[in-house]
Amino acid sequence: MKLKTINKLCCPFDKQDLTLQVFVKDTEQNIIEGILSCTACLRKYPIVYGVPIMSPDEYRQIKLEQPIVERWKIDHGIEDIRLLPTVTEG
Ligand SMILES: [Zn+2]
Repeated sequence: MKLKTINKLCCPFDKQDLTLQVFVKDTEQNIIEGILSCTACLRKYPIVYGVPIMSPDEYRQIKLEQPIVERWKIDHGIEDIRLLPTVTEG
């Protein structure tokens, strides 16, 4: 995922701007791992293997995303991340 492409993305929920936190880049400056955060609704969209996970809430697989976030918390010393603004169990 190239930075230029990411700059064109907006939140699928409210179309607001996203801020990017990069964890891993490759030698061509493609973003391999990172988090996109919506400035308006505070949803977080992980970038995994260069692919941003930007599904609507009902299609998000938080159970699959959460272990990645847990690893990032350890590897990159980031603070706890709530992927959705409201807690969604299951
Ligand atoms: Zn949003």
